[in-house]
Amino acid sequence: MAPAQDIVIESLLKAISRTSMLAEGNDPELDATLQSIRANLGKSQEPEVLQQTLQTLEPLVLKYDEERLARAQVFRAQLLQLIDTVEELPSTQFSVLLKKELETEIRRHWQTTSTWPELLKKVVQAVSETLQNPTASPKSKSLLGRLFRRKSGDEKPASSHSEIMSHVSHTLAALLTNITLPDVYRDQLLDIQKALTGNSDLNHLPALLDEVINLIMVAVGKTQEDLTSYLSQLNQQLASINASILTNYKAQKNMSSSRKDFSDTFKQHVDNTQTDVRNATDLNSLKTLIDERMHTITEAMATFQDKMHAQEKQAAQSITQLKNKVSRMEQDANQLRSNMQDKIAQALSDALTGLPNRAAYQETIFPLLTSSAQTGSPLCIAICDVDHFKKINDTWGHLAGDKVLKLIPKQMHSVLKKEHLMFRYGGEEFLIVFPMTSLDQAFDYCQKVREIVAKTPFNMSGDPVSVTISIGVSIFNGKESHDELFARTDKLLYQAKEKGRNTVIRDN
Ligand code: GH3
Ligand code: MG
Ligand code: MG
Repeated sequence: MAPAQDIVIESLLKAISRTSMLAEGNDPELDATLQSIRANLGKSQEPEVLQQTLQTLEPLVLKYDEERLARAQVFRAQLLQLIDTVEELPSTQFSVLLKKELETEIRRHWQTTSTWPELLKKVVQAVSETLQNPTASPKSKSLLGRLFRRKSGDEKPASSHSEIMSHVSHTLAALLTNITLPDVYRDQLLDIQKALTGNSDLNHLPALLDEVINLIMVAVGKTQEDLTSYLSQLNQQLASINASILTNYKAQKNMSSSRKDFSDTFKQHVDNTQTDVRNATDLNSLKTLIDERMHTITEAMATFQDKMHAQEKQAAQSITQLKNKVSRMEQDANQLRSNMQDKIAQALSDALTGLPNRAAYQETIFPLLTSSAQTGSPLCIAICDVDHFKKINDTWGHLAGDKVLKLIPKQMHSVLKKEHLMFRYGGEEFLIVFPMTSLDQAFDYCQKVREIVAKTPFNMSGDPVSVTISIGVSIFNGKESHDELFARTDKLLYQAKEKGRNTVIRDN
């Protein structure tokens, strides 16, 4: 093969192998094939293998798309069911206009996963509003309903909120079972599902909804959307590269067959000339004969050269096109990778303090627990909670509260080592993980952390205000689960609060 083509094929292999890594994690079958494709690409650089690889990948990418469609269909059905559930309740009725509008929105957007959160929000808002404004008289839904309705004393109370809420909450919980989330969100998902199925209070609904919408955002977030459109684009690019390779090979085959044609013709001309020369009787006719033959041969050569030039030009063009396509693919892959990295970083950090968040904590603590259990190296965690933080918000306002939340971790960092890991676990709760640290050492660090915060004057509308924190700190016993360790530490924090706050309590 020509060296230029070698280079193209090599970049093509690289691009396929890289992009296949990006596509991973969406579908187990696709994953398995991508892995074997990478293994095969490593072993052989034959064009046939390459072509076969592209052919294997194509149907899987299409299948992934089909599955996405199926998920969207379930999502649509659940939204419609949510509307129906509310309609079937006594004393609630969507306005005809609102219901029509919702159904149009669902029909228009159910296939586009990125619009799901917005769609869900709309439906849920309409549901909340409808639930909060019960119709004055119990409605009679249909003729059958009216005929079979029992005497009015048996009617359900006009706004049996707990029943309504339990219907709505169960439908929302069912909706969540339909979404695929990264592992770190599993606990959060279970928590929300539990809260939903146990919820019968209308006032809790907005908060729960926010969480549901957030989770769906994560599940169908921009990254997923990027990946999907990228995959379909990749599919097109692969198909067009496939076509280019075919054209290229055909052109090469043409070239070698024209070469053979030419040498056959040439040989034929020479043979004919030899025979004619042998048979020629006088010098003049011999001269004319040779002139004629030379002319024919020169013409055949010129035609052959033209043909060769044209084919060479075409081959060079198609190689350039191929190169451009491969480099486009590489650019796209790099762009997507860096987008995904940004998204992941965003999802793991807390916007207010810039600290790693609860999801980041989950990603960090589990591997550390496993390695501590295997090697026996000591591992401690501390839960730190700001004392009477609600009072700070109530007295100086939420913005002042935010300022305190930003400054506290800075002060805490100033007495910790860089191997100590700090997270914003929740509102005014910070978590410190102390890898390879004994309980005595961790306790000392916690005392330093507590002291530095207590000593810091927080500026509240010009006045220095003292803020304190309470801490529970414990050491992993090597056998317990993460939840057991966490619950134990949380109890210690509770004891610190009981003891009057601004206190560190440790394991015995
Ligand atoms: P305790 O000493 O028992 O911990 O009392 P507390 O007031 O700190 O505890 P509580 O859990 O009753 O209140 C925590 C408050 O923190 C309630 C919530 O509004 C507030 N909070 C949570 N997140 C934020 C935030 O991001 N910014 C602000 N300003 N306040 C927040
Ligand atoms: Mg708290
Ligand atoms: Mg607190």
